[in-house]
Amino acid sequence: MTSTSSRQDPSVVIIGAGMTGIQLVIKLKQAGIKNIIVLEKTHDVGGTWRENTYPGICCDVPSHAYTYSFEPNPEWSSFFPSGSEIHAYFKKVTKKYEVEKHIRFNQLVTRCVYDEESNTWAISNADGEVLQADLLFSATGILHQPVIPDISGLDSFAGAKFHSSQWDHDADLISKRIGVIGTGSTATQIIPELVKLAGSKISVFQRTAQWIVKMDNRDFSDKEKQQFRDQPKRMERIRTWSARFWAQGTAALVSDRWFDRLTHKLVSWNGLRYLNKSIKDPELRAKLTPDYTFGCKRVVINPLFYDAIQQANVDLITENIDRIEPDGIVTKDGVLHPLDILVMATGFDATAFMRPMGFIGKSGVTIEQAWAKKFNAYRSMFLPDFPNFFLMLGPNSPIGNQSIIEISEIQTEYAIKLIDQWRAGKLQTIAAKPEAMQAWASMLKERMGHTVWTSGCQSWYLDSEGDALAWPDKWSKWVAAMQTPDLSDFVQN
Ligand code: NAP
Repeated sequence: MTSTSSRQDPSVVIIGAGMTGIQLVIKLKQAGIKNIIVLEKTHDVGGTWRENTYPGICCDVPSHAYTYSFEPNPEWSSFFPSGSEIHAYFKKVTKKYEVEKHIRFNQLVTRCVYDEESNTWAISNADGEVLQADLLFSATGILHQPVIPDISGLDSFAGAKFHSSQWDHDADLISKRIGVIGTGSTATQIIPELVKLAGSKISVFQRTAQWIVKMDNRDFSDKEKQQFRDQPKRMERIRTWSARFWAQGTAALVSDRWFDRLTHKLVSWNGLRYLNKSIKDPELRAKLTPDYTFGCKRVVINPLFYDAIQQANVDLITENIDRIEPDGIVTKDGVLHPLDILVMATGFDATAFMRPMGFIGKSGVTIEQAWAKKFNAYRSMFLPDFPNFFLMLGPNSPIGNQSIIEISEIQTEYAIKLIDQWRAGKLQTIAAKPEAMQAWASMLKERMGHTVWTSGCQSWYLDSEGDALAWPDKWSKWVAAMQTPDLSDFVQN
């Protein structure tokens, strides 16, 4: 059992200094925990916003909602901020709250092993150094490990090729034939920038048409920014509006209530109307028309893509890819599409979570064994065989278009409530009981049947059995489930 002194002054290791890792340090310190080390694999904070630097990158959640609750930012330049502005915000918060002194940069964690005798975690880095911690947080993000498409001949491509999250800024794109594989949220932000390049020719390879919703971006005027500074409630109002708007958006995907079904009909109609109004050529329109239910895949929010795809220097190719050759992509109809540069906007492995690091819990159980049948975690965060371990943004964390920052903060507050109980000696370890985990998993499975995700599509929202990795119920239900930990679901003294 963890000693009383260790409980009073526990050592905490957090893996990752992205959006979640930063706010974990701030909130844990506020909860009276001082002994905190963050292991960050790179040289900088910011996670996904440090890593993704592709042209056109921005956030499709409103800026004042994509902000820590405790650090509103009247200086946001626009309604939907750019990636570099968001990265700068996280750097500023890191500095203001003195988070940096807790971070060890360039520390790639390779293995975490739980020791049952001491109730501690041993965390190893790539140099073989080992740290001990009473409490361990994985804050490695959801969309972190890029998916490199398994296409024959990819390695033989003669030009520059890179995944959207590993943008090669040294590649000269001027007057080049650029191929983009994918038409998800990322590709639809990149393509409008590529079409502007002088002399460029863009070939877009689409496997599945997307549901696209138009939400225009706009800059905040100096007057508005002054109002945000003088009356912070104005920022709070945008936050509340955004949360309510997306909560109703989610309800339309997960609820059978007549009003939610009606909302689903309306947003589907609105999506088709936007497509029909925007795309003049009937053949192109047909290619861009989705053949599956609205919301089954993550809806793309983008006001620029339909215009970009109609430019004279863009081709939309819907014939499936057969192979890649040194000179370009060959589609199944045998046509070679000659390319100088290849961009893979092919998404991320949303089931990687903390991996590829080795993760070993009680009795030598590996995370692969724990998840052999299903990616599950009690309330998205707790695994029975992995005590005193907190999986931030784990399976069925809401995702979708809600602000991930709010989700991360709610999970942190839930974790702190449990840590307080553990420090008070009411919990032996912080570990969900297997039966609690089973009940949670059964509830999720039952809820799935009420969602649009069972309607049939390929999506990173779904695991290999077609069950949701997203939260399959209303936002308010999730918030309610994360308010007060039920201690009887945890191993007690
Ligand atoms: P994604 O939504 O998973 O899209 C990947 C695209 O690549 C899809 O069009 C997919 O086709 C295609 N693809 C994958 N493998 C392929 C293959 N072998 N051959 C042909 N096509 C292939 O990935 P993403 O666009 O990077 O976006 C991932 C998520 O990141 C988003 O859903 C969103 O949550 C987040 N994101 C958010 C923002 C924001 O503004 N907040 C911006 C960018 C990304 P299929 O559709 O047929 O699978």
